[in-house]
Amino acid sequence: MRLSNLGTEQLREKDRSFVFHPSTHLAKHSRGETPNRIMAGAEGVYIWDTEGRKSLDGFGGLYCVNMGYGCTEIAEAIARQAHELPFAHVYASQGTEPVALLAEAVVEYFGQNMRRVFFGLSGSDANETNIKLVWYYNNILGRPEKKKIISRHRGYHGSGLVTGSLTGLAFFHNFFDLPLDLVRHTTTPHHYRQAHDGESEQAFSERCADELEALILAEGPETVAAFIGEPVLGTGGIVPPPKGYWTAIHGVLDKYDILLIADEVVCGFGRTGEKFGSHLYGMRPDFVTIAKGLSSAYLPISGSIIGDRVWSVLEQGTEKHGALGHGWTYSGHTLCAAAALANIRLLKERNILEHVRDVGPYWHARMNAELAGHPIVGEVRGVGILSAVELMRDPKQRIPFEPDLQVGVRIAAALFENGVIGRAMPHGDILGFAPPLIITRKEIDIIVDATAKSVETTYRALKAESAI
Ligand code: PMP
Repeated sequence: MRLSNLGTEQLREKDRSFVFHPSTHLAKHSRGETPNRIMAGAEGVYIWDTEGRKSLDGFGGLYCVNMGYGCTEIAEAIARQAHELPFAHVYASQGTEPVALLAEAVVEYFGQNMRRVFFGLSGSDANETNIKLVWYYNNILGRPEKKKIISRHRGYHGSGLVTGSLTGLAFFHNFFDLPLDLVRHTTTPHHYRQAHDGESEQAFSERCADELEALILAEGPETVAAFIGEPVLGTGGIVPPPKGYWTAIHGVLDKYDILLIADEVVCGFGRTGEKFGSHLYGMRPDFVTIAKGLSSAYLPISGSIIGDRVWSVLEQGTEKHGALGHGWTYSGHTLCAAAALANIRLLKERNILEHVRDVGPYWHARMNAELAGHPIVGEVRGVGILSAVELMRDPKQRIPFEPDLQVGVRIAAALFENGVIGRAMPHGDILGFAPPLIITRKEIDIIVDATAKSVETTYRALKAESAI
């Protein structure tokens, strides 16, 4: 169904004239120098534009359309709810059926010691909530100086003021006066890039933990409140943790009474083949950030799942000081909650976890067989339905390409010409994939074959240009 009878060029013109796009070169966009595709429809793992050009969406939107496009069950749940009750706020103890059922489903799906869910609309606002609650928690416990938050270089936690500060990528700090002063960054757990020659994964993990401990001691443990991390580093390059990493990190956090925030925005709801990345790596978080896969992006909704240890203190706080002064108008938005509830039901009914456990290893085996050992491939990595290929000028010596060569961007462009959307990640030359979890082996073959072809043609072009 179209909303107008405008042609593609007219829509592009309007887009360039009026839309302020995130993560976009504004001037080039205004001048029409960026690939200004106007998307129009989608089904399963495919998406197409107004010109009818169809692509296999190897990034599931922005790792969010987990159940794939065209889920009528979710669309119908939204329509039913919109007719019945599109919105009722959840301030001051008021509730709705979708929110009550969803919160229970989420707490039960995570398990462990989780107690409550605070709903928001984006991963960024959920992390904003987490940080405010960490501060509230320490104020109630009478230690107002315990406020600093440690994140990792190359971690991604959003692009607000605090959350953009937590994000450990310069692209999100430069010219915005970030990071804010209460945030510190520690070692990226990327063995291929960061390990010393001959250092085992386990030894490297222990070094990451030692470096975290050294940072805590330098800052003063009494000033460090929480550590935030994605179970699998996402936007910083899709990097599964080295062996023993989370166990080693837990050792340090426990020693200094530091809370753990597991940012499961990407890993949650089956992406790794477990319900949550925390389960896969034995993490025991105090807060869990969820978004994307919570509703498979059919409507925006996020959540902060709060564990036992923090919940009991929050309750005590309100006993002493009255109601908690935090909330968004659309916390627990009725329609979004109905969409998320339908999504979680579908995730269970379709045995998505089993499916990911089945096709994930197939994908990684094929990706390795086709790409590992290629002269410009440094590392092929992934877990579940998350995969990355890192390009290097000299893979053995771990020497990257000069950023100006834009090798990752060029390969993503070649891939697009071959019918597949992959993402040139914002750090180094890394091509990332996170398609819908419903992807089949056949569709995985299409991604792997197109990737191998695109890497090879870009390699040849770079050689022809004497760039390598
Ligand atoms: N945390 C993680 C791990 C993410 O990947 C993202 C988004 N890519 C966010 C937080 C922020 O989510 P949003 O863009 O919805 O604010």
